[in-house]
Order: sequence, then structure tokens, then C-alpha cells
Amino acid sequence: MHEFSITNSILSILGKIADDRKLKRIKKIRLILNPMGGIEKESLKFYFKFLTKDNPLFKDCRLVFKKDILRAVCTDCGAEFEISLKRPGNCKSCNSRNIKIIPADDIRILSIDV
Ligand SMILES: [Zn+2]
Repeated sequence: MHEFSITNSILSILGKIADDRKLKRIKKIRLILNPMGGIEKESLKFYFKFLTKDNPLFKDCRLVFKKDILRAVCTDCGAEFEISLKRPGNCKSCNSRNIKIIPADDIRILSIDV
């Protein structure tokens, strides 16, 4: 049921954005999933469909997931940058290997298309 409440809170955030900007429809939602978090994107999609089926704001809306993006900080030079969990690599600014992953939310809204 974890994903159910997450979907609910995403929908209430988007509902508020739509209210503020007087949007009639949201066509696409891009989300970033934390690869270290435990969110199942298939159940998120399922609940999204279920919760929005009678809501014209989300008619035919597509969910797009970006995964495997984390922010990291270099403990030598302090630079912050995005890394891939599979290939974290070295610091993008000083090439040090001492990088630390910055804790992130399990899910974030990256952008929407209206
Ligand atoms: Zn560095």
C-alpha cells in the first residue's frame, strides 16, 4: 500500500499546481525514482490509473520514469553532480574517487507537460 499513498500525494501536489496555473489537462508527468528506494513503478502506474480514471485533468496522461539518477558530493573538493548508480565513477570536477551519495526522496516530480 506504500505506492497507493505515494500516488495519492503526487496527485494532490499536481492538483494544486493545476489549480494555481489554471491547467485543464496534464498530458505527461516525468518522475525521478530513487534507485535505492523501494518504489515499484508498475504499482504506481496501476494506482495512478485507478485514482485518475474519472478525472479529466489526467485524461490519457502518461507517466514517464527516470531511474538510476542520484546526486553525489565529492568529499575532496565539495562539488555536487549527478551520477548513475550503476556507474558512479569519479568526481566530475577533480576526478577524486571519494564521492558520497546524497540521500534523496524515493520519488520526485521532475516536470509535467500540459
Ligand atoms: Zn572533487
